[in-house]
Amino acid sequence: MPRRLPVATYIEGIRAGDRAVLSRAITVVESTLESDRSLTVEILNGLPRWTASSFRLGITGVPGVGKSTFIDRFGMHVLERGHRVAVLAVDPSSSLTRGSILGDKTRMEDLVRAPEAFVRPSPARGSLGGVTRSTREAILLCEAAGYDFIVVETVGVGQSEIAVHSMVDFFLLLMLAGAGDELQGIKKGIMEMADGIAINKADGDNQIRAREARTEYQKALHLFPPSKSGWQAQVVTCSGLKGEGIPELYAMLMDYRERMRGNEWGASKRQRQALQWMHETVRSSIEARFYADTRVKAELPAMEARVVAGEIAPTLAANDLIRLYLQREKKD
Ligand code: GDP
Repeated sequence: MPRRLPVATYIEGIRAGDRAVLSRAITVVESTLESDRSLTVEILNGLPRWTASSFRLGITGVPGVGKSTFIDRFGMHVLERGHRVAVLAVDPSSSLTRGSILGDKTRMEDLVRAPEAFVRPSPARGSLGGVTRSTREAILLCEAAGYDFIVVETVGVGQSEIAVHSMVDFFLLLMLAGAGDELQGIKKGIMEMADGIAINKADGDNQIRAREARTEYQKALHLFPPSKSGWQAQVVTCSGLKGEGIPELYAMLMDYRERMRGNEWGASKRQRQALQWMHETVRSSIEARFYADTRVKAELPAMEARVVAGEIAPTLAANDLIRLYLQREKKD
């Protein structure tokens, strides 16, 4: 059993903004142990909901696009504007490769040293569903600890962007100019989800190309149907290395925030995300209980073999298994 603190110690530490305790609480939240799951619920129950006043920014982009350099610079700017910044990461690579795309180097050197910032050094690991859940919970913990500007970073390689999009107020896509493939492996759907695109590394010889790319992406975005929010996704250029375009990007986020506050769709975005979270939790919990059921476990291999052999239709097999599970539930 991992060493854990008493519930009250987590709650008091988080409320006092103690980064070491916050870190340890996030470790609890990331754990899939049954005892840690109940501890998480107790911790969350003991914390106030300060979420309305925070801003949650999601950032994605392929490895090497400059995310950590950008977040370091941008985070320092946000601190200067009087916010407290927390950086969390969703890294779907780790469960497959055991290595981590986001956590393998010293990242965000200025931000990790800043007293008003909290950088979660190693990203959450595990299945995407598990990582999504724990990141959402970690956001709540950070907010309860007084961090009012939350950055959730992910790599632009797949499903994780959709997950991050569902937990943030603003979704920013970092891209490069002239890196060959027009969309750099970023699927059209990801571009469509973006509230903003920043063409990064717009410095030195790259400036002109960055401006050209900006025009190109702006045109591409105009082809998408208008968003329900009334917000037209914007394309900007920036350089995380030189700090250029950072104040403008911050101003854009604050502009977005003001507009969304005055607009019904924007004001209800967090409510919709909360509902989605609840339904996802219901689905995943029921699924987990189903597969953990001893009779289901006993029947499953034979049923799978019959489906593969074409002896039973998949739908019927599923119905049989579900019936078995529900009978079991009734008896419990
Ligand atoms: P990440 O993998 O997306 O987190 O990218 P990093 O922040 O680690 O940056 C990858 C590489 O690009 C590093 O060698 C950085 O020094 C470089 N880099 C990052 N941002 C910029 C930038 O704004 N301009 C230039 N020219 N290089 C940058």
